Amino acid sequence: MRSKCASHCGGCGRHFAGDTAFDAHRRGKNGNRYCADPQDVNLVLKRTDGTCDLFGPPQVGAHIWQTPPGDRTLPGRAALAS
Ligand SMILES: [Zn+2]
Ligand SMILES: [Zn+2]
Repeated sequence: MRSKCASHCGGCGRHFAGDTAFDAHRRGKNGNRYCADPQDVNLVLKRTDGTCDLFGPPQVGAHIWQTPPGDRTLPGRAALAS
């Protein structure tokens, strides 16, 4: 079963497994938002052979990022949100 991009970032063009992972890579306050490197915000690569049809022509070989399995706390994110 191929994984599909569920939450596409138009800012950096990365692909995410869901809104939680997408939100985790968006940093900064309203009006000054930017994309962080997924590795810097504790995201992990779910697939490197995913598909994406959310943005432009369908892509294959999409790298899809997800939150770490079993880790829903995302300590890095919590620290930055406080
Ligand atoms: Zn982005
Ligand atoms: Zn995508």
